[in-house]
Amino acid sequence: MVLVMFILGLIFGSFFYAAGCRIPLQISIIKPRSSCSFCRNPLSYTELIPVFSFFLQKGRCKSCSQKLSLMYPAAELWTAGLFTAAYLRFGLSGELFVALLLISLLSIIVASDIHYMLIPDSVLMFFLPFLIAGRMIAPLPAWYDSLSGAAAGFFMLVLIAVLSKGGIGGGDIKLFAVLGIALGVKMLIAAFVLAVFIGMLYGACGTLSGKLDRKQPIPFAPAIAAGSLVSYLYGEEILALYVKMAMY
Ligand SMILES: [Zn+2]
Repeated sequence: MVLVMFILGLIFGSFFYAAGCRIPLQISIIKPRSSCSFCRNPLSYTELIPVFSFFLQKGRCKSCSQKLSLMYPAAELWTAGLFTAAYLRFGLSGELFVALLLISLLSIIVASDIHYMLIPDSVLMFFLPFLIAGRMIAPLPAWYDSLSGAAAGFFMLVLIAVLSKGGIGGGDIKLFAVLGIALGVKMLIAAFVLAVFIGMLYGACGTLSGKLDRKQPIPFAPAIAAGSLVSYLYGEEILALYVKMAMY
């Protein structure tokens, strides 16, 4: 079952990455088939196997030998790892459905935000009814926590957008409202704190190593995704550890 989840994660990860790259350009996510971004040669089936194709071809296009982006296998492995972690955490349960939705949503959004600094409304709108349904099947301990989570996500981010004078985009605000449904208030706040911390760490490393200009805006979605998933999957443990440390 763990292997099945991992393989499913690889396949979906590949699809989500392509979807994240295509949706903002309003290209269909099924047609045309994926092609090399350099020579435009459509990929054959043997070139479409997640991760394996990349390594078999030594990271290069079969037709034009241009170096392929490491983002492809990275995105596939990232989704596969998360699908597996979610299964190990929740087993076959209603909560697993919510977890897979959350991972899928965030995988697409990270791809789109990295490439275009954009969180597409259509992706949020697509996942919204599924997440609501998921939370009806597997409600939070207090069911209304989904509602307060969504409201908290929205107002917290609006407040920060106002205070930071546009440091946070409209897409981030809507994303946090949607995340609140799955996470509830407490884990949403933990997710936000983690996301800001990860974002600042990334910004500081980037500036210090000279790879980032201080004023250059950076995509926030990867930090939001990491913060949300860590707090969603392991938040209780982290909070317990934090309380324990605070007591000593
Ligand atoms: Zn090529």
